[in-house]
Amino acid sequence: MTYTENLPSEFKNQLSCFGLFDVIVVGGGPAGIAAAVTASECGRSVLLIERLGFCGGAAVAGLSGTICGLYMTVEDPQKRTPEQIIFGFAERFRDALYREGGLTEPQVYGNTWVATHDCAKYKKVATNMLRAANITVLYHTQMIDVIAEDDELKGMVLHTKSGFTSVYAKKVIDASGDADVVYKMGLKTSKGNNGVIQNPTMMFKVGNVHMEKYLAYWGENTISPPKVVSMLEAHDDLLRKKVWLFPTVNPGELLVNATKITGFDKRALDVTDPVDHTEAEQFSIYQAEAFFNFMKANVPGCEDSYFIDYATEVGVRQTRTIDGMATLKNDDVINKRKFNDGIVKTSWPIELHYGAKPKTEWLVNDYYEVPFHTLVPKVGKNIIVAGRCLSSEHEALASCRVTAQCFEYGRAAALAADIAISEEKPFQMIEGTHIAQLMKNN
Ligand SMILES: Cc1cc2nc3c(=O)[nH]c(=O)nc-3n(C[C@H](O)[C@H](O)[C@H](O)COP(=O)(O)OP(=O)(O)OC[C@H]3O[C@@H](n4cnc5c(N)ncnc54)[C@H](O)[C@@H]3O)c2cc1C
Repeated sequence: MTYTENLPSEFKNQLSCFGLFDVIVVGGGPAGIAAAVTASECGRSVLLIERLGFCGGAAVAGLSGTICGLYMTVEDPQKRTPEQIIFGFAERFRDALYREGGLTEPQVYGNTWVATHDCAKYKKVATNMLRAANITVLYHTQMIDVIAEDDELKGMVLHTKSGFTSVYAKKVIDASGDADVVYKMGLKTSKGNNGVIQNPTMMFKVGNVHMEKYLAYWGENTISPPKVVSMLEAHDDLLRKKVWLFPTVNPGELLVNATKITGFDKRALDVTDPVDHTEAEQFSIYQAEAFFNFMKANVPGCEDSYFIDYATEVGVRQTRTIDGMATLKNDDVINKRKFNDGIVKTSWPIELHYGAKPKTEWLVNDYYEVPFHTLVPKVGKNIIVAGRCLSSEHEALASCRVTAQCFEYGRAAALAADIAISEEKPFQMIEGTHIAQLMKNN
C-alpha cells in the first residue's frame, strides 16, 4: 500500500516515495505510541516508523519492565494505598494492560510504587491501539536522514530491506529516544553531564523462583535490602551494588534490574557510537550471567531458578537531549516547581545510574511539572520531540524519563502537532498554557 496519490506534484517524480502524511512519528516507544494514537484520534493521517518489529521501545526491547511515575512519592508506602497522579494516555495504557492480564498490582519501590508489565501483553496492547486508531505503521524501517530546506523539515529518508525510500509530513514527532531527527537536521543536542551519560543496564528474567521463600527474605520493597547490598559489595565481579528485583505477573518469575554496563575496560560508554553500543551488548552477557549466579547462590528462593532470557537489547537510559525553548532544570525537580504550561506531573525520584550504586533522591509528598516547551527545539520548523530526548538537565532527566511521563509527552506533542497544522503555526508559537489545558481534559 502506498500513499503517493496524496503527494504534491513536486514530490510525485521522486523515485521511491512512501507518501505524504499529516504527522509522522519516528520511534514506537511509550512516547511514540501515545503520540501516534493521539494524533490519529485528532483526525490526522499518521505514519509511525519503528526500526524494530514491535512497539514498546526500551520498555519492551530493553525489558525495562515496570510503569514508573504513575504514583505519588510518600514517606511510608508500606502503610499507604498508592495515590495515582498521572492519568491521560498513561492511565489508558495502564488500564488496557491490566485488563489484558499484563500488569501487576502496584509494588513498593522505595518511597513509591511501580507496576510490573509483561512484554508479550505490552506488544499486544500497543498493536490493538495502533490498529484501532488506523495508523500506518512501518516496522523494520529506520529513519536515516532528513529532507529539509534550511531549518524547515519536509520529509525523511527511510531505510528498509528493499532500499531507501522517502516520506513527507506536515509535522514530525521525534520519539526516537535519541533525538535522531533533530540531530540529523543539524540542530543542537547535548549529552548528559558534559558528555557523560547514565550507564545502560541489561535486564533479564528468571523463572522457577520459590516466591514465598524469596519474599520472606527480600521483603516487599523491590529495592535490594541492606543485607543484599553488603553481599554485593563483596563481589568484585559485579559492578552494581544496589539492585531492583520485581515479581512479574507470571508465577515464579522475577524481572531483574541489576547490571551496570560499561566497556570491558570499565570505561563509561556512549551508546550512540556503534562501537560502544556493541561493546555494551557484549559486556552485558557476562554481567547478567554473573548476577544470575549470585542470585542462585545467595538469595533464598532462587536456588532452583533458571535464566529465561536477556532483553532483546541493552537498556539505554540516556543519549541526546534537544536544546529546547524551555529546559527542565535539576533545580526545578529538587524544588518541585510547577509551571503554567506544565503538561505532566512527576513525583518520580532522581534515579541516576552512574557509579556502583544508583542515586535515588526522593521528592516526598510532592511533585514538579514539566513545561510544554521542553519538547520544542529552539530552532527548526515542523519538528517536535516526545519522550526521553526532551530538553532537560542531566539529573532532571534521571527523574522525568520514566514511562508514565513519556506517554504524556507523546500525547502533548500530538496535540501540539494538531494545532500547529490547523492554525498553520510553528511549534515555537504554540501557547504552552493551551496544551497544558488540553492535557487536563483527559
Ligand atoms: C534498563 C532500564 C530500566 C528502566 N526501567 C524503567 C522502569 O522500570 N519503569 C519505567 O517507567 N521506566 C524505566 N526505564 C525508562 C524507560 O524505559 C524509558 O525512559 C522510556 O522507554 C523512554 O521512552 P521513549 O518513548 O522516549 O523512548 P524509547 O523507549 O527509547 O523508544 C524509542 C523507539 O524509537 C525507535 N527508534 C530509535 N531511533 C529510530 C530511528 N532512527 N528510526 C526508527 N525507529 C527508531 C527505537 O527502536 C525505540 O523503539 C528504564 C530504562 C532502562 C534503560
